[in-house]
Amino acid sequence: MNRETPLATDSVWFATLTPAEQAVLACPERQIAHRTPDVLVVGGGLVGLAIGYFLAERGAKVQVIEGKRLASGASGANAGGIWPNDQGPLHPSGFHALAFLSRDLWGRLSLRPEFDFDWRVNGLLNVNAERIGPSAAEVAARLQELGYAVQGVDAEQIARLEPALRSGLTYGLHLPSEAHLHPVKAVVSLVRASCRRGVGIKVGVAATGLQLRQGRITGVETTAGPIEARHVVAATGWSAAWLGKVISPLPPLRAVSGQLISTPPLPPLLKGTVAGQFLVFQLRSGEVVTGPDVVESDRLTPDPALSVQFADAARELIPALRDVPFDRAWCGIRPGTPDGLPVIDRAANVENLWLACGHFKNGVLLAPGTGKLLADWIVTGTRPEELLPFAADRFNSASRLPLRE
Ligand SMILES: Cc1cc2nc3c(=O)[nH]c(=O)nc-3n(C[C@H](O)[C@H](O)[C@H](O)COP(=O)(O)OP(=O)(O)OC[C@H]3O[C@@H](n4cnc5c(N)ncnc54)[C@H](O)[C@@H]3O)c2cc1C
Repeated sequence: MNRETPLATDSVWFATLTPAEQAVLACPERQIAHRTPDVLVVGGGLVGLAIGYFLAERGAKVQVIEGKRLASGASGANAGGIWPNDQGPLHPSGFHALAFLSRDLWGRLSLRPEFDFDWRVNGLLNVNAERIGPSAAEVAARLQELGYAVQGVDAEQIARLEPALRSGLTYGLHLPSEAHLHPVKAVVSLVRASCRRGVGIKVGVAATGLQLRQGRITGVETTAGPIEARHVVAATGWSAAWLGKVISPLPPLRAVSGQLISTPPLPPLLKGTVAGQFLVFQLRSGEVVTGPDVVESDRLTPDPALSVQFADAARELIPALRDVPFDRAWCGIRPGTPDGLPVIDRAANVENLWLACGHFKNGVLLAPGTGKLLADWIVTGTRPEELLPFAADRFNSASRLPLRE
């Protein structure tokens, strides 16, 4: 068998949980705890679970339903990067406000007793000269003016920051305040903390339709019978089909696949995330992960040729990986939108339906900010101004724009 043939298709995140964490994730609830909650959250990814957690913190009675298993979408397949400074000048300033609020919330959550998700502020080092261009100092100065924490570094600094990288890297960009987390441990933490606050979390139950009367949802049809909720939140990643004809037009969501590969546990090699041709980082438990690609498709089967390309690039960048196998490959589907920004809004014409979808490449980063601000809006009835850039109607005339990476 080719050394690069994937041996496992599940992500490294599930493989590195403790038995106690696996038990939390399995969510043993046999029944739907709340048939008449204040808020029904549909979708058990990081976004839906963060919304449920922050709603419960504000005293709401919350039920979450998840059609498959918790974190079975992009939330269980991503790179775990909390990289608000590595966004380039593309996004409007509204993105920055939500991204930095959210990063700060992750940092604060990491200190709470129920939360344990390998939070590390370990920086990101970009050594991709092709992407940086001829002068790191100029790029850094421009990005600093836009408010990002980034500095140019030379060969000596690169060697000090990441001694395992090959020699001959002459310049790069260092983003010292970027962070990293274990996304499925973050899911487990949110579940643990939410359950303590009375949130019902039921897996294996999908929403299939909505009953509507006079501009309000009166009931949600699910595979386990109807649920009557005062508010309904759609946090279903890239799929909004279950909303049917209730909202028109549906948010222009698109599936954007990405693949990653990993090694078995290794002794410490990398301190932070390194961006070469692809991203490379090491888990606290030792596995080195590299990838991903960005392809507009709903592909969930890893491509062996791509795994070889990722592995070759990682070995070229980090000589100590030369004889190390990459024995795990997996794919996830990012919930894309035409402008790469999420939709976090109240549905037009349905006063008790809320949308929190389309978080694309940044849903891990943005989950707590989305959860906190949407919970504030639902509970107080006042829209936080940080959410204005994420209105659904911005696509009414632009839904055919090409995907912006
Ligand atoms: C390869 C890759 C790398 C990434 N790297 C990063 C990164 O480094 N940093 C970052 O911030 N983001 C990253 N992302 C993006 C991030 O993973 C996503 O934006 C985020 O996980 C989206 O979370 P979500 O909860 O909205 O969606 P999902 O995690 O997709 O969750 C949606 C859930 O809804 C459920 N569902 C769907 N329909 C129904 C229904 N009708 N009824 C009940 N349940 C339903 C699904 O089963 C699913 O579990 C990456 C993504 C990929 C694929």
